Amino acid sequence: MNVITCAFCTSEAATFRVRPDRVFECPQGHEITVRDICLDEMNVWAVDASGTLGYVVSPVFSLEVIAEALEDLANCDSWPHPEYAARVALDTAFKACVDYVAAYRVGVA
Ligand SMILES: [Zn+2]
Repeated sequence: MNVITCAFCTSEAATFRVRPDRVFECPQGHEITVRDICLDEMNVWAVDASGTLGYVVSPVFSLEVIAEALEDLANCDSWPHPEYAARVALDTAFKACVDYVAAYRVGVA
């Protein structure tokens, strides 16, 4: 999980912790809510077991990448360099699997 740090604090250690009222608070008392979290489409916010706010690659996106990589692997013989194409497909699938596991570990997947 990639942690989200407070934009108001200068310290990179200023991470947000979740409170029981679903508000996230940094050590200096700055607060954000889920509506304040702005991520691109491929990422989703998450909270790890320690209560720290962060983000992971969306498991839906990871599964799409894995499916495309496996399709590329099945069709790699049609590429000029099949061994290279297979390696790229497997690397892509592996990285997406790692992203999926990261999402799983924080309860998103
Ligand atoms: Zn702060």
